[in-house]
Amino acid sequence: MDKASQRVENLHDSYGRLASKLRISITDRCNFRCNFCMPSQPVWLPHDEILTFEEIVRTARVLSQMGIDRIRLSGGEPLVRKDVEGLVSMLSRIDGIKSIGMTTNGSLLAAKASALKRAGLSSVTISLHSLKPERFDKITGTNGIFDKITEGIEAARSLDFKPLKINCVITRGENDDEIIDFARFAHETGVTVRFIEYMPFDGTKLWDAHRVITGEEIVDKINKIYPVAKIERETGSTAIEYNFEDGSEGGIATITSMSAPFCGDCDRIRITADGKVVPCLFSRDEYDIKSKLRAGASDEELSAYIRSVYFRKSPGVETMIKNKANLEHVRPMHTIGG
Ligand code: SAM
Ligand code: SF4
Repeated sequence: MDKASQRVENLHDSYGRLASKLRISITDRCNFRCNFCMPSQPVWLPHDEILTFEEIVRTARVLSQMGIDRIRLSGGEPLVRKDVEGLVSMLSRIDGIKSIGMTTNGSLLAAKASALKRAGLSSVTISLHSLKPERFDKITGTNGIFDKITEGIEAARSLDFKPLKINCVITRGENDDEIIDFARFAHETGVTVRFIEYMPFDGTKLWDAHRVITGEEIVDKINKIYPVAKIERETGSTAIEYNFEDGSEGGIATITSMSAPFCGDCDRIRITADGKVVPCLFSRDEYDIKSKLRAGASDEELSAYIRSVYFRKSPGVETMIKNKANLEHVRPMHTIGG
């Protein structure tokens, strides 16, 4: 059967938003304990509750037939999952998938980068929340691991992963004094540093609105030292990107999920490590596809189920903020992958 005839109606919700990106958490486990993400006593999923590679690939294939063309692997920490490059290779062979990205803490990247590149990984986003090794340890609950991350960044640069981005969660009182240092890092190294607003998914309920540093505040600060120019936002992107006005290669971006979210053209579907479809990051709604996969559902049954639950996707955090809804600690970030 050719691709066009295999394709079914595109995945969309009741607000007319089309899904084109899949973000999948391939493990809830992580070798870090970031204080804005991980509960101090995390409860791990039993191994047999986690989707197998075959189940992940089958789900991705069904989704690709509904218009999903970009996949991002996340976690927990995706690189702690054994043979992750094998998974990338399987996913890269799915018809219609244009790119496979990964968001990683970078600690195991130097060792894996070449194999991942060969397997078909297109882009890497590395999280880095401080440029000061001791503070990095404090935020991430690690011990003397900072150099591993910079090695990971170097490995990704030398293998020409494109785009190569750095994610940095800025929280008031923790690392907000490093905003300019991160802008300098972007300016000098040519990477894009994306500043993510702190969201209430910390699993430890540390979050409160006063600890959020908005994207606007960040850009205002940077603009005084390194003038930047806004780039037109790509439809569906959660980030507002900026170039340096002096033409240097790097850039900055803000992910304003708390102060100015872009729910109107959200094009994501998320799947948790234990096989739950999560149409909206901020909603409690999640729908079990693992039991369907394991009960022998056909591709048609899977796609009909995914279609029906995605149709119920809530309008999003933008509406919650407008309605002054309580922004709840819905689920810890390590279980959903960002
Ligand atoms: N372990 C990988 C990593 O840290 O990059 C991937 C999973 S992590 C959950 C995905 C992204 O979510 C990371 O960039 C991380 O910094 C970000 N993140 C985690 N908790 C967050 C929070 N409460 N608010 C905003 N971003 C958060
Ligand atoms: Fe692990 Fe990433 Fe969460 Fe940090 S942000 S604890 S590295 S999953």
